[in-house]
Amino acid sequence: MSKKQLIQELVEALGQENVITEQEDLVCYSFDATPDVPNPLPDVVVTPTCTEEVAKVVTIALKYKTPIYPRGSGTNLCGGTVPLKGGIVLLSLKMNKILEIDPENLVAVVQPGVIIQHLNNAVAPHGLIYPPDPGTVTTATMGGSVAECAGGLRGLKYGVTKHYIMGLEVVLPNGKVARFGGKTVKNVTAYDLVKLFTGSEGTLGIITEITAKLIPAPETAAAMLATFSSLEDAGNAIKGIISSKVIPATLEIMDQVTIRTVENFAKVGLPTDAKAILLIEVDGIPEVVAREAEAVEKVVIENNGSIKRAKDEQERENIWTARRAALPALAQFKPTTVLEDATVPRSKITEMLLFLEQIAEKYKLDIGTFGHAGDGNLHPTILTDARDKEEMERVHKAVDEIFAKAVELGGTLSGEHGIGIAKAKYLELELGEAGMDVLRRIKNALDPEGIMNPGKIISN
Ligand SMILES: Cc1cc2nc3c(=O)[nH]c(=O)nc-3n(C[C@H](O)[C@H](O)[C@H](O)COP(=O)(O)OP(=O)(O)OC[C@H]3O[C@@H](n4cnc5c(N)ncnc54)[C@H](O)[C@@H]3O)c2cc1C
Repeated sequence: MSKKQLIQELVEALGQENVITEQEDLVCYSFDATPDVPNPLPDVVVTPTCTEEVAKVVTIALKYKTPIYPRGSGTNLCGGTVPLKGGIVLLSLKMNKILEIDPENLVAVVQPGVIIQHLNNAVAPHGLIYPPDPGTVTTATMGGSVAECAGGLRGLKYGVTKHYIMGLEVVLPNGKVARFGGKTVKNVTAYDLVKLFTGSEGTLGIITEITAKLIPAPETAAAMLATFSSLEDAGNAIKGIISSKVIPATLEIMDQVTIRTVENFAKVGLPTDAKAILLIEVDGIPEVVAREAEAVEKVVIENNGSIKRAKDEQERENIWTARRAALPALAQFKPTTVLEDATVPRSKITEMLLFLEQIAEKYKLDIGTFGHAGDGNLHPTILTDARDKEEMERVHKAVDEIFAKAVELGGTLSGEHGIGIAKAKYLELELGEAGMDVLRRIKNALDPEGIMNPGKIISN
């Protein structure tokens, strides 16, 4: 059966307006936000508008044994949407309806193409929020963030995407539509298949509807900027804040390379002589916020830091503008930005920060480190140039060591960016042979033909 026949069937199922085949359009779907991965062209891109159309696409893909790659906004950082083996890219952006906001049950039901921020805008008048907030909150889709189990800046206090997904509708690799979970707070009916599909990176099925948990918006917040002249002091302050029983909504770190690059880029008045800064926000009811902010200030001073509380909304905004600018600012420095998200237990954060400094020195690389320090989730960002083969060899060696160290410290390969293509070769390091076998059996059971996002996480 030919590619022409495949495309003809897709056009019959979805209409010409939902099938893209022009070469120059296909190029846009050959890559995502991930550097240093292959970028082959897909054969065709489809833009279904409802679950039934998604099911039709999967049935056709199965008939032709053609790979299918679900895609939202393509902002993932692990090569998750790259059409490695050619075939069909399935774009969710036309399935962008908020189907229901239910303040009594504190849930929203959405289609996968809804942008995360759009959901938050829609629930704000009800005094509610959907907390998962990756840096790409204004562009990333609900479907992509559920499939990636995205984290974000508020993960420390509020958790990550999997803590907010209560129900899913999924088109399985056999073309059938299944529904798991729903609006009930409690649900222990059989295996937790909602969690299995959350974070499955498009390898087990296509998410077509999401029931998400909402929570009351915090009444107020206090943002603070803490400055340190050593990485050890910053690391100890992170541990000290948590040990003093304060769980900030956000507790982020930037090292000196990142501070200087961000200040040069965003001009928000960061202390460029500091070895590290912490960006901290506590939120909740005013009395608790006041008490927690004081506790944070005390810990920072005890750890030889200085701290400034944002006086007004503008100063608060400056702090978060600086944090959001971290990756774009670093990315300006050199043509290729290799960003990792190895994560360690919080108690090991100082050790990991110092290790990253040694790695930069050992391999003579520019590494800026920032990230969700309160979660132990650092983003060492290697600034390089993919065309420089000799430097890329050093980059790969440095990345190997970073992952090995994270696992050795009792951590994980990925706190939030997922495995995709980029980290698949390191999986056994964390899961061992028996764990890999479980992954392979799940994949084989649900997708025996290997059509669903092949080459990501685990291959059949
Ligand atoms: C500047 C920048 C900052 C970032 N900050 C963060 C951060 O703070 N925290 C964080 O966790 N991530 C972050 N990310 C990574 C990324 O933005 C998130 O993972 C985001 O949630 C991906 O959403 P998306 O719509 O772009 O998904 P895509 O990139 O399109 O897809 C992501 C994965 O989900 C699969 N997929 C997409 N839609 C579906 C569907 N409907 N059904 C099944 N599978 C599907 C894809 O196949 C792919 O494997 C950042 C990325 C960038 C570029």
